[in-house]
Amino acid sequence: MLHAGIALVHAAIAAAAGTCELARSQVRQGDVIRLTCDAQASSARLLDREFPLFIQADGKALGMLPVAAGTPPGPRTIAVRTGEGRLLETLSFQVVDARFPEQNVTLSKSTLELAPAPGETERLRAFRQLVTPERFWTEPFIVPVPGCMTSPFGVKRMHNGKPTGNYHGGVDQRSPAGRPIRAPAAGIVRLAGMFTVPGNFVGIDHGQGLTSSYAHMSEVAVSEGARVEQGDVLGYVGSTGRSSAPHLHWGLAAHGVNINPLQWVPLKPCAAAKPAAKPKPRPSPPGR
Ligand SMILES: [Zn+2]
Repeated sequence: MLHAGIALVHAAIAAAAGTCELARSQVRQGDVIRLTCDAQASSARLLDREFPLFIQADGKALGMLPVAAGTPPGPRTIAVRTGEGRLLETLSFQVVDARFPEQNVTLSKSTLELAPAPGETERLRAFRQLVTPERFWTEPFIVPVPGCMTSPFGVKRMHNGKPTGNYHGGVDQRSPAGRPIRAPAAGIVRLAGMFTVPGNFVGIDHGQGLTSSYAHMSEVAVSEGARVEQGDVLGYVGSTGRSSAPHLHWGLAAHGVNINPLQWVPLKPCAAAKPAAKPKPRPSPPGR
């Protein structure tokens, strides 16, 4: 009987070694859910998509799983598998309504009618879907420019009073033209140049499925293929492309899905940034 008892203890240890942890049990629409597992975990299935996990310096497997802004609130599950496809664990969490507001943007007819040139949409999409195995990013991220938010992530956009059916995939920060835009984290520049709608644009691959992008620059200061460190200048604030005034539009994506930069950096809405307004609590970074 003693031997059977020891075998049971061993079985319990083996099961515990294979377990995963979610940083949170509740995640807002547009946020990333951070999954940490034993090294044998290779992929995680969430919302009908399979996401790879990557082994980190501490030997654990990490997955940064995006919950798209349009995901209906409610209970969700994540199925974690080994490289051979064996189910390791199923975890549950709640998607919480982020209560994204509506926002109207006034644009001139010629600005509104700007359409991507042939190939631009495909190049931008290919960039966003980059998943490369090396991790360049470290936390905390820094904000690319100082300045309050004129438009947060996730707002349902209207152009000249008409619903576009789209939501805002990044944040807009108020900033004078010519101010340097700095990399919030290290990475490799994968796109740098002029595009019809985002104007002068830089796209950075931070590794392991995380990308960031910067639009409407007056000037681009980096070349494709360059390695950038946190704080390096990527370009300068401008109003190129579909833009009505100088500002920085920037965004983060995980595995091609736009995610809310406010989960990564503290930013205040311009209305709340006035001295009389009550300060908002600093949003916690992902996983905390
Ligand atoms: Zn924007």
